[in-house]
Amino acid sequence: MANIPTATVGRLVTYLRVLTSLAATGVERVSSDELGERAGSSAFQVRKDLATCGRFGTRGSGYTVATLERELRRVLGLTREWPVAIVGMGRLGQALADYPNFGAYDFVLRGAFDVDPDKVGMAAGRLTVQHLSELPQVVRDEGIGMAFLTVPGAAAQAAADTLVAAGVRGILNFAPSVIHVPDGVRVENVDFLAGLQRLSYALGGLPAASVDVEA
Ligand code: NAD
Repeated sequence: MANIPTATVGRLVTYLRVLTSLAATGVERVSSDELGERAGSSAFQVRKDLATCGRFGTRGSGYTVATLERELRRVLGLTREWPVAIVGMGRLGQALADYPNFGAYDFVLRGAFDVDPDKVGMAAGRLTVQHLSELPQVVRDEGIGMAFLTVPGAAAQAAADTLVAAGVRGILNFAPSVIHVPDGVRVENVDFLAGLQRLSYALGGLPAASVDVEA
């Protein structure tokens, strides 16, 4: 099982993106300074993060882009294509299904599910929305390992339970609910509204000491 700290994994993903775009423009070597600059990290952080994955590069001459890209893909489990499902084909689910570029990131949509009879049978990108009751079969047939969860908060736990029972081991949860899953299943919560709230604090929030919470 993976054991690299989550924050480090987040930066490895960013380094991989930088390396992929460098490789696409024919760059063969990169220094930790340049990688850090392009990834928004320091050279020290880059060297420290990469040291958690193995020994790469030589002092003074940097990293071979192709080798480092291949090794990061291996560490991140991106040496295979991941079939993904969407559960909840409302506004967000449809927007995700319409995104044409998952393939460029090693993910491919293989199932779109809803419980609303009006949604079942609708087009969703290249897929057709199926009823949630068909999910276990599709997960088996397509080898789906991960899912976007884009149902209302009140439906999220039950839908997550359906996914877990079908064998899905990774859930990207957009619903504003805490999802409980058994060991061996991983939930990542996505909350861009919370991101806006953090920006609100950064742009117009008050210093903590000036807020009187007792009053
Ligand atoms: P929506 O109401 O347009 O769509 C929800 C869909 O889920 C509907 O099609 C509904 O039929 C379906 N559904 C309900 N129960 C289901 C179940 N058990 N199994 C399968 N499908 C089911 O909602 P939306 O605007 O697309 O938002 C989806 C979710 O994302 C909501 O929980 C919303 O709060 C959340 N959201 C999160 C963020 C964020 O920042 N993370 C931003 C916007 C919306």
